[in-house]
Amino acid sequence: MKPKKPFRIGYGYDIHRLVEGRALILGGVNIPHAKGLDGHSDADCLTHALADAVLGALGLPDIGHFFPPTDDRFKGMDSQDILKKATEEASARGYEISNVDIGVIAEEPKIAKFIPQMKEILARSMNIAPEDVGIKATTHEKVGDLGRAVGIAASAVCLLAAK
Ligand code: MG
Repeated sequence: MKPKKPFRIGYGYDIHRLVEGRALILGGVNIPHAKGLDGHSDADCLTHALADAVLGALGLPDIGHFFPPTDDRFKGMDSQDILKKATEEASARGYEISNVDIGVIAEEPKIAKFIPQMKEILARSMNIAPEDVGIKATTHEKVGDLGRAVGIAASAVCLLAAK
């Protein structure tokens, strides 16, 4: 399909609760920690926010529409497959991902040292270069639930360019 516009911008946000007995997967990286994010899939809120940004740029519904949490087929699924699906939706409409930028709010654990690995994994899922993936991590300065490490949140923007 020929794209109607040269560029499209998208935004996504997600939050998951930190609980015991789950692996902590963020940006596709398994991060050693006493708790992990709870959810139907691997609960990778960073990747979910990013996939929603891509789908949002296309004017499509969010990832819950494509991968309903009520559907057992998607239980424990690798969120990189969700991001790949969003990338395919963009490609099918004549767009490629130009660049993305992500902010993560995590009071714990410290994730900065895992960011290069996240960029590699996310870039591969979106068929772009790691330098086209921005990731920043911050704490919530002990403010509110996020500041008490009840969960981890992420927001993301992406720019799509006509191929
Ligand atoms: Mg989610």
